[in-house]
Amino acid sequence: MSNCYDIAVCGGGIAGISAALAAAREGKKVVLFEKEYMLGGLATAGLITIYLPLCDGYGHQVSFGIAEELLKLSITYGAEDKYPENWLDGLGTKTEKDKRYQVQYNAQTFAIVAEKLLLENNVDIMYGSYAIDAKADDGKIRSLSVVNKSGIREYTVKSVVDATGDCDIAHFVGAPTVTFRQGNVLAAWYYFTDEKGYNLQMLGASDVPENERTGNEETPLIKRRFTGLDGKELSEMVCLSHQKLLNHWLDKKANNKNAVISTIPTIPQIRMTRKIVGEYELSYTEEHKYFEDSIGMVSNWKKRGPVYEVPFRTLYYKNMKNLIVAGRCTSVDETLWDVMRVIPCCAVTGQAAGTAAALTDDFSSLDIKLLQDKLIANGVVLHEKCL
Ligand SMILES: Cc1cc2nc3c(=O)[nH]c(=O)nc-3n(C[C@H](O)[C@H](O)[C@H](O)COP(=O)(O)OP(=O)(O)OC[C@H]3O[C@@H](n4cnc5c(N)ncnc54)[C@H](O)[C@@H]3O)c2cc1C
Repeated sequence: MSNCYDIAVCGGGIAGISAALAAAREGKKVVLFEKEYMLGGLATAGLITIYLPLCDGYGHQVSFGIAEELLKLSITYGAEDKYPENWLDGLGTKTEKDKRYQVQYNAQTFAIVAEKLLLENNVDIMYGSYAIDAKADDGKIRSLSVVNKSGIREYTVKSVVDATGDCDIAHFVGAPTVTFRQGNVLAAWYYFTDEKGYNLQMLGASDVPENERTGNEETPLIKRRFTGLDGKELSEMVCLSHQKLLNHWLDKKANNKNAVISTIPTIPQIRMTRKIVGEYELSYTEEHKYFEDSIGMVSNWKKRGPVYEVPFRTLYYKNMKNLIVAGRCTSVDETLWDVMRVIPCCAVTGQAAGTAAALTDDFSSLDIKLLQDKLIANGVVLHEKCL
């Protein structure tokens, strides 16, 4: 296999899958480096199996394109729980209070069908491959260092999509990034099976940004918080998570002898770590705001109503010309971070990043209209006024 590619996508979570798919569909030679041996990241290996809504909660779909394609793909062989009959079957009013365009899927089948989709689109998937460094000169990344079973290899690339979730590549080349100030609470999501079937247990409440707290929040599993960026800390976090889920399951088992732990996460369940300081920082207060350079829209999973157009400028830093980020590390303020990190938003930014990477190796000088035309041709709706 040659070590030269048009586009390297680092990280095979939802953002990386979307980016690789979009770039490959534009006919580019794409390699995807994923340190695990499955696709999906948190959404599969991390057992986060709820594909949050593509709609605003009032009956309007706002996220389209690959975000919708992957939602449907995730339930190819059946949904696990919240099957949105009123959306997918054209039944219902789409405005019923408890119905949003979201699904719960099976992590393992989603990972396999996503892999099949990328292979069918000629993406070179490199599993067990950790991007550990990048060399840049003259404001461009020239090569990536990747370690896997073969040792350390250098890959020459024209552009790079950083879909590591942690902005690793941006960090390697010294692009400006910021870390999550308040730190992550411990999570311990897992599955057990019993005579009733396969049960997702969501231990570790979703956190609330400091400035939004009312005092009525669920108590975290433990007081300690985690940056997600330190090897020792992450290992300790995973061990604590294992102990929590074991104890939780033992409690279940005391009353239900058929309860068996069936799946535990194989990557750390960490929400927010490091993000790029892009050319624009989208703020939580900018709901319903028109952006000329919108690359798609997302809703707020936490409440009905808000819709955000996502500016292309939140995906790059102009002095690292051929680097673009996607997923849970784009340029948003601390409060919006908790909204933009979820699965549909990662697919929206992933599709845009992959499409842009297929068009240029200098993102700051890209003709935005060209990108938008491609996105529209591939099903994306850019502006709220177009709904
Ligand atoms: C406890 C918890 C609950 C959540 N609940 C929900 C929910 O209910 N619904 C929802 O929609 N979202 C939820 N989320 C958020 C959502 O799951 C993630 O934010 C989203 O899936 C992130 O996608 P991503 O592709 O940006 O990153 P990730 O899923 O983190 O993918 C990054 C991928 O890159 C790989 N990688 C990382 N570094 C490197 C490297 N240097 N080289 C090669 N590979 C690398 C990783 O192995 C991983 O596969 C939750 C998250 C957590 C932690």
